Amino acid sequence: MTCEELIAHLSSYIDHEMDAALVAEVQEHIAHCRNCRVVLDTTRRLIVLVHDEGQRVIPADQRSALFERLHQAFLKRPQASNESAV
Ligand SMILES: [Zn+2]
Repeated sequence: MTCEELIAHLSSYIDHEMDAALVAEVQEHIAHCRNCRVVLDTTRRLIVLVHDEGQRVIPADQRSALFERLHQAFLKRPQASNESAV
């Protein structure tokens, strides 16, 4: 799995709406890719924050915007280390 693929699947992963085989691929990827671990952690925290404000579920359109922002931020990141090589 590439970083791009992981970002594309991030929403499904966090919602536990993903095939076990794909979950294994995500976990294998984040085990050696620090950038994607950061993105995953950040996304989870944002979702928890939204929950704390009383919204149980992020509306689909807001969620798309959130992931789009994350994706753009991710693509702009300099390659920080060799860890992220795919
Ligand atoms: Zn990655």
